[in-house]
Amino acid sequence: MNDPIFIGARIYRGSSYGPRHPLSIPRVPTVTDLCRTLGWLTDTQYRTSPCAKPSALMNFHTPAYIAALQRAEATLQADPAFDLGTLSNPVFPEVYRRPATAAGGGLLAAEHVRAGGVAYNPGGGTHHGLPDRANGFCYINEPVLTIRHLLSMGLNRIAYVDIDAHHCDGVAVAFHGSEQVRMISVHEDKRWPFTGALDDDAGGAAINIPVPRGFNDTEFDLILNDVILPALAAQKPDAIYLQCGADAVTEDPLSRLTLSNRCHVKAVTALRAMAPRLIVSGGGGYNPWSVGRAWTCVWATLAGHEIPDRLPQNAADILQALRWSRKAQPSDVLLTTLLDDPRPGPISEQVRAAIAHLKSGSAWQAG
Ligand SMILES: [Zn+2]
Repeated sequence: MNDPIFIGARIYRGSSYGPRHPLSIPRVPTVTDLCRTLGWLTDTQYRTSPCAKPSALMNFHTPAYIAALQRAEATLQADPAFDLGTLSNPVFPEVYRRPATAAGGGLLAAEHVRAGGVAYNPGGGTHHGLPDRANGFCYINEPVLTIRHLLSMGLNRIAYVDIDAHHCDGVAVAFHGSEQVRMISVHEDKRWPFTGALDDDAGGAAINIPVPRGFNDTEFDLILNDVILPALAAQKPDAIYLQCGADAVTEDPLSRLTLSNRCHVKAVTALRAMAPRLIVSGGGGYNPWSVGRAWTCVWATLAGHEIPDRLPQNAADILQALRWSRKAQPSDVLLTTLLDDPRPGPISEQVRAAIAHLKSGSAWQAG
């Protein structure tokens, strides 16, 4: 079993979707810098993500779309036929290389876990990407390409678990009706992309759990223990891909969910025990402090480091130096700690009903 690896790249540092886009903020560099400063990331654990080749990207995307994406990077011109150059999917100087690098990281993660082990690719998790166009800040669907690579290695049962605040519509397109890939998504109800309803099982390949605004840690625990873990136990996956988007935490501006980042840590810990191979990616996360903290906690958990109650000053300095156009400076807690206090709460009728509905259905009980 290989040691866990952390996959990063220079291209995440300094590249941006533009000053007015939610992804104007640094994310992977914050995590990399925090982990290095805390002594949690050695040179042997760090891998530089390669940039995936166009032929590899065509394992999901159409040749015309990949050509359009390369053309957009070269010309910096919008291409409405492929939804390139919209408010959500702007054209920027790294618009091809950055997502192709995230995809290369996923393929490297798959190679790393071939014989068993753990890989972390915080730049990945672009779960909205569609075969022939950009969608929801995603140009290349890294999870789909990574899972298809795992399948090409001869692994037969793959579980995809997605705790991002948004439904994984692009992944659902790829694996609708699949016998080999099972998808579980917990996401905010009545929010873009408005797919992933409770009764949508993607042709038997998915469990969708839409949750109401105010979704809390108590409800997350219940779904993890009563839905996600039993489904994984029934499937007995050869590999698990966890899309660990950080936009379901309270501080995130793009959801109304109110989780603490302890949920991300709990998911990582629980899923690690459910399969011999685990790939964890990033995903959404649009508050520079909360996303950096959550994904640093994820690596600490994967690599076996204890998270301190209070950050040493040199690590706190990294959080202090972040700037955000949307809001003033955050609370002291966000600047001096990594792990949130628990955010428990009542169990809503919607969550109770969703769990009861899923338990009453087949929900992979047959394995
Ligand atoms: Zn999201």
